[in-house]
Formats: sequence, C-alpha cells, structure tokens
Amino acid sequence: MPFPTTRLRRMRQSEPLRALVRETHLIPTNFIYPLFVCPGEHVRKEISSMPGVFNISVDEAVKEAREAKSLGLGGIILFGLPEKKDESATGAWADDGIVQRATRAIKKEVRDLVVIGDVCLCEYMSHGHCGIVEKRGRDYEILNDATLEILAKTAVSQAKAGMGIIAPSDMMDGRVAAIRKGLDLAGFTNTPILSYAAKFASGFYGPFREAADSAPQFGDRRSYQMDGANLHEAMREIESDIEEGADMIMVKPAMPYLDVISEARRRFDLPLAAYQVSGEYAMLQAAIRNGWLDRDRVILESLTSIRRAGAQIILTYFAKDAARLLS
Ligand SMILES: [Zn+2]
Repeated sequence: MPFPTTRLRRMRQSEPLRALVRETHLIPTNFIYPLFVCPGEHVRKEISSMPGVFNISVDEAVKEAREAKSLGLGGIILFGLPEKKDESATGAWADDGIVQRATRAIKKEVRDLVVIGDVCLCEYMSHGHCGIVEKRGRDYEILNDATLEILAKTAVSQAKAGMGIIAPSDMMDGRVAAIRKGLDLAGFTNTPILSYAAKFASGFYGPFREAADSAPQFGDRRSYQMDGANLHEAMREIESDIEEGADMIMVKPAMPYLDVISEARRRFDLPLAAYQVSGEYAMLQAAIRNGWLDRDRVILESLTSIRRAGAQIILTYFAKDAARLLS
C-alpha cells in the first residue's frame, strides 16, 4: 500500500517509538581501545595530530586498562614504542620489550580484561617498514618469507607475557599460518588470532605514524598493504587468512571501506572487526574542536555506521568517550 496508507514517519514520532524500531545498537563491549606504550615512568605525551590520545608509559597503561575495564569496554590493543630501533626489530620480540612489559603489568593488575597485541615490525625497525628490507643499490625489497619468522617469534613472546589475542597487521603473505604454527609449537594452542586481513594502503594512517613513530624512512607500504580500489582482492585476503587459521578478521580503515566490511559480513561467518583509524579520528576531532560538528552525535553516528555495515568489534580512539555517552 503506497502513500497515504503507508506513512514511514509514523514510527519516528517519539524517541520511545524510534528506540523500539532501532536496528543497530552500540554497546561498550563492541569497542577496543588502542594504547601506545613508551618507555619511562609517569609519561603522558599527547600526540599533536590526535588530541586526547597519548604516548604513555607502562604505569599509565595500567591505569588506562583499569579504566577500560570499569567502562565495560571489549578490550584494549597495545602498540609499542621501543627504546631503540634496529634492522631486525629486536624490540618487537624481546622478552623485556615494551609491549611484553606492559602486558605483564596489565595482566597482574587488571583481571578479566581482553588484551590484544598488535604484531608488526614497523615500530621496531630503524627503516620503519613492516618487514625485513633487502637493499640492492637504490632498489629495495620487503622480504616476505624471512619476515614470517620474526612475526611468529614476536607473537610467541607476547603470548608468553600473557597476551590474550594476537593481532598481526603487517600484511605479509602466510603470516597467520606462521604465527599459528609458532604459537602452537610453544604451547599456546588456545591463543586466538585476530588478523588485520584486509588492510589497505591508506592516507588515513597519517596521524598514527606520529603516534607510533613508524613512518617508513624510504618508499611506502604499497607493496604489501592492499590497493584501496580492490574489493574482490580483499575477499581473497580474508579467505586466505581464515584458511590459515585466523579466529577473527579485520578490515582497516573503517569509514572509507564500509562496503568492504559489509561484503565481508555477508560472505564470512567469523567475528568481524573494523579499525576506525587515526585519520578518521583526527578529522572528526578537528571539526569538533572548531565547533563545526556536534561531538557526541558524530562519535556515535560514525561508530553506528561501522556497526551497521557489519563489524561487531570496533577499534576506536573514541572507545572511552563512546562508552560514557552510552551509559
Ligand atoms: Zn607495520
């Protein structure tokens, strides 16, 4: 029956009616809060392009973890800023690496909080690439298979420190299988893998590189991260990570790739995550701070769009703000 019998506005007349027919709901357990852990004590250094996000020392990370738990967040994800960088990413897999130390401290102080470890090498490599670099004159190559070994070693050292979930973000081929094998051999058969399965080479990562001090010193990441134009290839990436043993999959970034999230949700039955990345956060914060956008509304609207597209887990720098808005 068309208009005037059908009037869609009938169900929008009041907030109780709108709430009754609302299709998408956000809850704090949807959100994962990213932390950038650095050496030192009582360090809280704001990242200039990400107001409200900080480089924090281990003691401060414990406080953040406690807060994340009290707000009912789904968990936290740790990124590390090591004291020293080198060409074999020693800081990534060392037993006393920054992420390993933070994990131990958090696990000791905060019970029952999901702690996810980002596994990549770029923050720990002097050249800032996500894998081992072989230079030949002016050319260079990011070595895939040699990198797998270090990634597996990193995952095992994080698991040893008590990491709850291992999340590889490097985009090397075969890394999920290598990490699964490494974890199983070391006795961590129950440690799940959340794979950054479809990670696109994106301009929206800019502020993160300041936060994690991980900008490549030469070239870019297009030889391993995905071309932003490719939806079908993204499905192949996800499929191969699932075959290699991923327990959960992720699409990154979120907002410019909502169609990829939606297609992944339609095709695959694994828990699906999406990362609302630093550039998405910075862009909204800039407009909020200028008074151009309504803070509370755009935080929840942006997260709802990602949830509606099909991601049930959202990595977001707004995690704490959103949880407060929802309470
Ligand atoms: Zn990386």
